[in-house]
Formats: sequence, structure tokens, C-alpha cells
Amino acid sequence: MPKILVTNDDGVYADSIRVLAAALDGLGDVTVVAPERNWSAAGHPKTLHKPLRMAQIEWSDGRRVHVCSGAPSDCVALAILGAVGGTFDLVISGINDSFNLGCDVLYSGTVAAAMESLVMGVPSMALSTGAVEGYAIEDAEAWQNAAAYARTLAAGLLERPLPPQTLFNVNVPRRPAAEILGHRFTCLGRRIYGDVLVTRDDPWGKPYYWIGGEVPTGIAEEGSDFGAIEGGYVSISPLGIDLTRHELLAELALGGWSAPE
Ligand code: MN
Repeated sequence: MPKILVTNDDGVYADSIRVLAAALDGLGDVTVVAPERNWSAAGHPKTLHKPLRMAQIEWSDGRRVHVCSGAPSDCVALAILGAVGGTFDLVISGINDSFNLGCDVLYSGTVAAAMESLVMGVPSMALSTGAVEGYAIEDAEAWQNAAAYARTLAAGLLERPLPPQTLFNVNVPRRPAAEILGHRFTCLGRRIYGDVLVTRDDPWGKPYYWIGGEVPTGIAEEGSDFGAIEGGYVSISPLGIDLTRHELLAELALGGWSAPE
């Protein structure tokens, strides 16, 4: 039976990871290693300056799971390095409670966990679900919808692995299951952040700052992850580690750009 590692960035106490783990039972031997707190938008840390701790707890559904004091990426690294015994065939991170579309993947702890898995040579998938206009469904239904996709896609990945160094970044719109129109394979689209600087004074008159502003939007271009979500589809983006602009590299190598003399 294949061994599946499940983690997330919303923390081990998030309901969504419990639903995800339950959906994968039977497809493989499921091990959960998740962070003890929420690491959303914490990116891809590698904790080297302090020790990492692991503990076991029991979820309300009776499953024994591992809690780790580090980031999602640390959870994956420790597990693959052998902290919980054995090796893994597939790593699944999620279900994140909001989309990871476009540039979000650079901030996302959910995606970072899947990326860490690629770095360590184990295939992976990141799963997120987010609200869309015109629909309001309960959390439980949103987790079930995403978990069902996770199971189908995980079965596919185990049977027909992707090329090395490739993960699936999966986003499921929060629509009723019957109103999800299927899936689309997509590229990362363009996120628009409405960040503004929020400055306040502490009780001693010294300023402190928040990155505030509006909820980010995106451009629903055809073929992009935003386009798929806007159209009512599950978005599946194949992502890799290589951020090189290969088309530009070729041009640069041919002398297409040079520094001023
Ligand atoms: Mn999160």
C-alpha cells in the first residue's frame, strides 16, 4: 500500500486536514504530520536556528497524528528524513482555507510544504478552497468537495506519476458539489493585491505597522487559475521549482541584453 504524508499550514487543529486525511484512507497508508499553529502566508522556512519538537495527539475522530513545532516545510522535511518512520510515496498539503492562486504560491505555507516535498524528491500536491461570488456553502461541505478531488487526483498521481520536480497546485471553488463544472489544467494567473500600509501608535506613542487593505482580486484570464475558478471549475496548475524565464535566457545567451558600458 502506498504511503501518503498529509500536512497543512492552517495547523493540526484545523477541521479541513481531518477531512482530507479521512478521504485518503484506503487509498494509502496515511500519516499526518502538521504544525502546532497556523503558518498561513509564512512561505518556505527551513528551521535551522532552534530545535524542532514532535509530539503525538489524538484527533476527535480517533486518529493518532504528529504535531510539529516547525513550519509546514519543516513537517515535510522531518517526515521524509525519517522522524515518523518509513518513507513516503506522495505528500498532500491542505486543505487550505482560502485560494492559493497566482502569486499566492510564493507566500503560501500550503504550497511550500508541497514544494519541500519536491525538493526532497517525493511527488506532491497542494489543495486549497476559497469563496466565490454568488455561493455560500458550509465549511464541512467545502472540505468534503476538496477532499473528494484530493482522493481522485491522489489515486491518479500514484498510478500515473508526474515528471520529477512537478506538483499539482489544486484550487477548488466553494460551490455546491453539483455546481462545480469539472476541472481545468491551468497556468498561474495574475493576482492583484490591494495592500495598504496601516500605521498606528502603541500606548507609548511609538508607531507600529500592519499590512492591511482590501481582499486581493485577480485577472480571470482564459487558461489561468483565476479563469478556471471564475468559470466554476477546479483549477489544477502543474508547478515546478525552476523559476528561470527560459525564453529570456535563450535571448540573453544570444546577446539580447547587455549592461551599459
Ligand atoms: Mn493557510
